Amino acid sequence: MVNKLYVVTPRGFCAGVEMAIKALTWMLKIYDETIYCYHEIVHNDWIVEKFKENNVKFINNTDELPNNSIVMLSAHGTAPKIEKEFKSISLTNVNSVCPLVTKVHHEAKRFSDEGHEIIYVGHKNHDEAVGAMGVAPQSMNLIENLDDIEEIELKSNKVALLAQTTLAMSDWEPIMLKAKEKYPNLKMPRKNDLCYATTNRQEAIINIADKVDTVIVIGSSTSSNTNALVTSLNNIGKEAYRIETTDDIENIDFKNKNVAITAGASAPDHMLQNIVDYIKPKNIEFYIDSDETEYFPLPVELRTNIKNLTNFISSMFPENKCISKYGIKNDKSWSATKALTSL
Ligand code: SF4
Repeated sequence: MVNKLYVVTPRGFCAGVEMAIKALTWMLKIYDETIYCYHEIVHNDWIVEKFKENNVKFINNTDELPNNSIVMLSAHGTAPKIEKEFKSISLTNVNSVCPLVTKVHHEAKRFSDEGHEIIYVGHKNHDEAVGAMGVAPQSMNLIENLDDIEEIELKSNKVALLAQTTLAMSDWEPIMLKAKEKYPNLKMPRKNDLCYATTNRQEAIINIADKVDTVIVIGSSTSSNTNALVTSLNNIGKEAYRIETTDDIENIDFKNKNVAITAGASAPDHMLQNIVDYIKPKNIEFYIDSDETEYFPLPVELRTNIKNLTNFISSMFPENKCISKYGIKNDKSWSATKALTSL
């Protein structure tokens, strides 16, 4: 039996994931048709399955899209060329990209327009990296690690450095320092591209790591920020396990250990709760490292849709005094967890 379990905050859903899950739920409530979602809406297997059961089809290519379909683009961001293709085939197109990924796309466009060669630090083939690289393919060079930055040779003396939002800080920092050393005129965004959710979750778990023998990180193997939490811990020599279900934990010996538990930004809280119930710790302490208040509104196309729908219903049924619990005005109080429960 686990001796003491520290349940760490912040953990789990970030503002971008909250927004994307709610946006896709809204689409299912508005449309009867199958919703075609480009890439997994967020990288969590349980959430993807839940949406599949509710008439969402996840696709990786515009070839898979029937004409006049209803389309949602995922939180990880879509290359402009691909977005254009989707728009030309679909009837309705809603983009649930996280604003913090959009920020990186803007930076890539700006640096490219200014004539910079861009080094983008990210995971090859990850949806976010694929989308970002597609913003300025002629100027962008993807690297994954310290060896790559040492090996890369760029001809231009105008070089800029960008990153995937979900890297491990301890992987990113040496790469950034090496890039600065190699390219003294290196341009970077004023604030680096690692997002608040990625850094807050890593800082929180690292701040408690000294008190525990081992760490459980809840999340799917496809989730970059979940993997980054494990990497951050391993980089400081701490044992850490990425877990999704109780099956993953059966053969791990937690007997009399002090354990901390956290979750990646796309992991629903019930997954963590299942694990806590299963390991039945003798003592639980809630460790709050920082508070998060970030909120991202629904995509503008969807807000317009919902407003139009609400106005239509009010004008058609003026006597209808029924007040909706959900809507644009109270979107902040409707969580992604509630949205998923409503499916
Ligand atoms: S992890 Fe960061 S970049 Fe990704 S959706 Fe969440 S807030 Fe946005």
